[in-house]
Formats: sequence, structure tokens, C-alpha cells
Amino acid sequence: MYLTQGLHRALQAKPAAIATICGDRVRTIAEQGDRVARLASGLRSLGVAEGDRVAILAMNSDRYAEYLLAVPWAGAVVNPVNIRWSATEVAYSLRDSDTRVLLVDDAFSPMVPALTAEWPQLATLVHCGDGPTPEGMVSYEELVASSSPAPDVRREGDDLAGLFYTGGTTGFPKGVMLSHANLVTSSFGCMTTGRFLPPGSVFLHAAPMFHLADLAAWVSQTARGGTHVMVPFFEPKAVLDAIQAHSVTDVLLVPTMIQMLVDHPDISQYDLSSLERVMYGGSSIAEGVLRRTMEVLPNVQMIQAYGMTELAPAATLLTHEDHHGRYLRSAGKAAPHTEVEIRDESGIAVPTGTVGEICVRGGNVMLGYWNKPEETAAALKDGWMHTGDGGYLDDDGFVYVVDRIKDMIVSGGENVYSAEVETALSKHPAVLASAVIGLPDEQWGERVHACVVLAPNAVATAEELASFCKEHIAGYKTPRSVDFVDELPISGAGKILKRELRARYAEQAEA
Ligand code: ATP
Ligand code: MG
Repeated sequence: MYLTQGLHRALQAKPAAIATICGDRVRTIAEQGDRVARLASGLRSLGVAEGDRVAILAMNSDRYAEYLLAVPWAGAVVNPVNIRWSATEVAYSLRDSDTRVLLVDDAFSPMVPALTAEWPQLATLVHCGDGPTPEGMVSYEELVASSSPAPDVRREGDDLAGLFYTGGTTGFPKGVMLSHANLVTSSFGCMTTGRFLPPGSVFLHAAPMFHLADLAAWVSQTARGGTHVMVPFFEPKAVLDAIQAHSVTDVLLVPTMIQMLVDHPDISQYDLSSLERVMYGGSSIAEGVLRRTMEVLPNVQMIQAYGMTELAPAATLLTHEDHHGRYLRSAGKAAPHTEVEIRDESGIAVPTGTVGEICVRGGNVMLGYWNKPEETAAALKDGWMHTGDGGYLDDDGFVYVVDRIKDMIVSGGENVYSAEVETALSKHPAVLASAVIGLPDEQWGERVHACVVLAPNAVATAEELASFCKEHIAGYKTPRSVDFVDELPISGAGKILKRELRARYAEQAEA
């Protein structure tokens, strides 16, 4: 099991099928295979040795997919960089991973001087954009054209395939080491059980390709010899256009993207009849948003995955058939490649219905954190990944993610899970999005506070929202205070950065 195996299979089974559609560029699997073998040899000629990290900082494109194959083909390790990071964060990850070769497109080449200033060992820059190649950089297309195809180094399943930095939602990102087998196991387990990307499907890369959720879909689709359509980045109109123009059947989105898509004013003007499946995950989805999506797209099968970078990334799946009733609040059952257990602080499994830490074991569990033995030891115990997420199991084996343990609010001695409060708020018609956090409170220890983005032209008062919540959840869980904001701080992967919200209030309190 290794990443390029899927390409070998597809080359044998259906070389003339369309591999990638990116703007006006359409390439067959045979063309892609040839370009990958040339790019691999070009990278070797630039000094890339087996095991070296090769990074990419780019918007989604067909070249991104070629990179994901050519780097392991050359025996090296992929390092896809978060496109929302500042130069300092990017430089940190390149330095941390000792990466000396970077592929960069037009959107990010202006960042290069700042990167080399902070990480002078960044010696080789390959320009993979469509514009003219900046001075001092190697042209991707010239490298492909001038190199003769190299044979695949063919890695083993346990070999390191990639370094993937975590989302940085809770703190500084950590480099997760994933093997080839980790990535293939998670992808196949997830896509087959979720019945996502069946033969003949056309997959749209709308979520950023640096993120593992999209990469997991990419692995299966590549092995199937399926078609990949790329849009440079998520933008609702570009996504709707691409679905209609290329008869896209499958797309993977994070909840914030789903919400932007279904609330887009022009959605009804599009012919989205080709769309059969939406896989989503990466953060909890508010039940109101999920129900709205199922109304707006009644013929689309919704499939949820729960996981994390450390799990390559999928651990549980809520299949389309299970999208009803109380299961709409769940993240589904353990995927076939995993076992899930809920444990208390001392590591003992708790009974069903009791909240504890979600722990996962399986062939998808990471090799460890890069250069972080202490963090690795804290997260991995006897092969079990301690996710840092709070959750519980029900009697039918469904997993409910209640909150990140770091985000849980303890108010007056009672646990409040922010996701539950956000779900209640999401059912109010005036609420577009919300983030619930705990703020220090003299009387209660912490008090429940909501930051709310209202729908366009909608009006609501804090009192109104609080009394609405009281109809759905217990009094102590209802927000004690509400701030109306224009937008919420979002991470590169589209997640709400609660640590940033908390920091804002801490600053205000000090001022
Ligand atoms: P960092 O670890 O640096 O703080 P991060 O945890 O956001 O960043 P990822 O690995 O991308 O980085 O995200 C994994 C986390 O996302 C999970 O631990 C969980 O909290 C959340 N998550 C993922 N899928 C779901 C889901 N379906 N439902 C609820 N939460 C989810
Ligand atoms: Mg995490």
C-alpha cells in the first residue's frame, strides 16, 4: 500500500480516461502518469534525495495532484503547506520540517523573500503557477519537459509519506507524520463505507488540497482512475459554476463552506442535478445548517466524517442512510479501519452515554509528531490516539462529538458543550453562524457567551436569542451574554478560531 500504487493501477486499467480538469487544461491518466514520472526525475535532478521533504504552497490545481504523486515517486516526503498561514507560520513549518525545496504558485511567490529571510536553507523554488516564472525560480513546466521519466521508487506501506501540519485551531501547529499505509487505509475505509466516489464519479476539489480531508478523497479517486476537477479555492459561485459545467457528482466540504453554499442567493439558478454526494467534516455541523442543506439539496446524499490530521484523517462515518432523527447530531459509527473507545481521565473506558475523551485505534493512526517525542507520547498510548475531543457513544455504536476538551465550558460546576449551544442557536432563523465560548465569571467560574453573525437584514436581540435557546436546552447552557459580530475568525481549514475570540475578550478585560 503506497500512494503511487493507485496511479499504476489507473494507468493499466484506463489510461485514456480524464484524470484532471483545471480551467481549460484537461489531461488523461496516461498524460498525468508521464508528467509525474518526469517531474519526479526533475526533482531528483534538483537534488531531492529519498526521504527529503518537498513542500508546496499553492492554490488547488492539476499540478497539485501531480506533485502529490511525483514526490513519493521520487522517494521523497510531501509537505503540503496551509495556504492561510502568514509568512512567519509558513517559515516556521519549513524550518521545523527542514524542508529545502518548495513548489510555489503565482498567489504565493510574493511571499518567498520573507520565507528565505527567515529560513535561508530554502534553496530551491519551483514555480508552479501559470504566470511567468519569477527570477531565481525553476519553471515547473520546463522541469517536466526537460526531464526524462524516472522509474517509481515504490515505497513500502510503513514508510513516511507526508508531513501534515495540524490546523492550529487550539495552538501552534504540529507536524503529523503519516505513512503511506495510514493514508491509503483511511481513504479506502472511508470512501467505500461512505459510498463516496463510486466508479464513474467526478470529484470537485473545492476544499483546499493541502488539507487532509480533501487529500483522503484524492487518494481514492486517483486509485479508481476517476476524474478530478479543481477550482483554485473555495468561493461559492466558482463551486456552483464548476458543478454545473463539469457535471460534478461528488464534493467534499467543511461545514462553513456548506453554509455559504446553501445560503448563496443564486443557488436556485444553477442546474446541480449531477451532484449526488457531499462528504463533510472537519468541525461539527450545526443541526440547523444540516437540515437546511438537506432541504435545499434534497437529492444529494450527505455523508459525514469525523477525524483529525493524526488519523489520516477519518475515524467515524455517518452514512447517508443514517442521516435522520437524533443521529443528525452524531458523527456516525467507527469506520471499518478503526476502533473507538470513550475513556475517562485515568484511561478507563466509560459506559455508553457518558462523556469522556474519544480514543481511536487502527491502521490510520499516525506514526507520531515530527520532532515532538513528548507530545507524541501524550497522544499515543498503546496504539490508541487520544484525540483531545470530548464525546460519548450511544447503545447503537454512534459517536457524538460534544466539544474539544479545551473548548468545554464549566459554568457553576456544570459542563456546557459549546457545540450544543451553537446547534440551538442555529435553529433560530435570524442566526447565520455562531461561536460559543466560556468567559471568566466571578460567580459561575465561567459563563456561556455567544458571538453571533446575523443573517442579512435579520434582526434579533440578545434576550430573544437567550429565551429561544431556553426552549431547546437547559437554562445553565443558555448564553448569559451575546455579542453580534460581522464575521467570525476562521482558520485556513475553515474552522472557527475560538482561541482568537477568547484572546480578544482577555485583551478587552485587561484594557
Ligand atoms: P490543532 O490540532 O492544531 O489545534 P485542528 O485540531 O483543528 O488543529 P485538524 O486535525 O484539522 O486540526 O482537525 C481535527 C479536529 O476537528 C478534531 O479533533 C475535531 O475537534 C474536529 N472535527 C473534525 N471532524 C469533526 C466532526 N465531524 N464533528 C465534530 N468535530 C470534528
Ligand atoms: Mg487537533
